[in-house]
Amino acid sequence: MDAITHCIETYLSPRENPPAEAIALDGLRRAVGFIERAVKDGTDREARKEMMMAALQGGLTFQKGLGAVHALSHPLGGLKEVSLHHGTLNAVLLPAVLRFNAPDAQAKYAEIRKVLGLAPETDLADWIAALVARLGMPASLSAMALPHGVIPAVAEAATKDHSSATNPRAATAADYAAMLEASF
Ligand SMILES: [Zn+2]
Repeated sequence: MDAITHCIETYLSPRENPPAEAIALDGLRRAVGFIERAVKDGTDREARKEMMMAALQGGLTFQKGLGAVHALSHPLGGLKEVSLHHGTLNAVLLPAVLRFNAPDAQAKYAEIRKVLGLAPETDLADWIAALVARLGMPASLSAMALPHGVIPAVAEAATKDHSSATNPRAATAADYAAMLEASF
């Protein structure tokens, strides 16, 4: 899910870099196509190969910049109170961030739906949340045992994270707090 998030966030980053966008979309297509097989059967070598390629592609492209998911998962991952897994955090946060970004990313969301073979009316955030559920991952930050009281400090830290600058929609601390609450 970290690889999927890298591909989505780097594609949505407003920086101009068409080759990186093409790599990100190809990585996303591979990961979404094979992640369920790879999770169901870890010995499925074809699925594992495609996931490795997606992870590499996400890494190749994120020089274009990430976004609000990583702006939040970086400070969350640095908390002393609780040890939180980076990829799981991204999986849990991605739907709320996709909903927040939607007004400023309609054309790119349409392209993502096309690349993934989804119907034009598909709600990307709902679709990702359903994928995360099928993978058996936590559905919320509270399920990951995040203390609710850290939300204001994490939201403030997210505004200062380098990934925040390339989110397609500018986010304030109040916006980040709302995304955290929606994911809680
Ligand atoms: Zn990441």
